[in-house]
Amino acid sequence: MGTKLLAALALVAAGAVAWYAAPPSSDGSAALPPVATRASEPRAHPVPGQGFDRAAHSTTDPSSIWVIVNKSHPIEPSDFRPAIALVRGYQVAVPAAGPLEDLLAAADAEGLGLKIASAFRSYDYQLSVHAAHVAERGHVAADQVSARAGHSEHQTGLAVDLVTPADPGCDFDACFADTPAGRWLARESWRFGFVVRYRAGTTAVTGYSPEPWHLRFVGRELAAELHRSGDPTLEEFFDVSGGDYPAAEAGDD
Ligand SMILES: [Zn+2]
Repeated sequence: MGTKLLAALALVAAGAVAWYAAPPSSDGSAALPPVATRASEPRAHPVPGQGFDRAAHSTTDPSSIWVIVNKSHPIEPSDFRPAIALVRGYQVAVPAAGPLEDLLAAADAEGLGLKIASAFRSYDYQLSVHAAHVAERGHVAADQVSARAGHSEHQTGLAVDLVTPADPGCDFDACFADTPAGRWLARESWRFGFVVRYRAGTTAVTGYSPEPWHLRFVGRELAAELHRSGDPTLEEFFDVSGGDYPAAEAGDD
């Protein structure tokens, strides 16, 4: 504890009211907040999550590991391309590469044989992916399963779709969640800094049907905090809007 804080505590204990005259600290930040509550209720151990800094990374910069991309929050600029590294022949954003290698190696050690099916997708490639879904099932259904160009996490390079040759019938299907690989990812991926981004029961928040195969790298710190807090989506954790496309953009054009 710094001498300045000790002095402040002494002032509070003495009932002094000169608190607001305390000068800013040397780093220019504002005066310390009142500490009476903290002083009277000492905690022997830090409370998990209490020190988590939700502003440590940007949620809007597409090169940030915490960026939130959804139907309400497209990638800006729309032609963004991340710095790329290769993992097993697939392009991923540099920060996600090492952790993804680790996750795949751990899955291999469990005999799960996970394979990457899709990783970084450029704006133009996403355009063609979405168009193919629209041609196959129409606009409304396509938007439930595929992002419009500029709205896909895959364009950040932080998202990967995984499949397992052991259960090919469940590739890109909800039943992937009940395969050994799907269960392992749901249980263990946070240890490597990933989250299952579109979980069952979150469609109204994320705007997408459950995708137990779609992992999003957010870093070990945030993944552990989400695991601890139980928040099922990035939108809820950061209080960022999600759901469907804005009404002006929706519609059967
Ligand atoms: Zn995906």
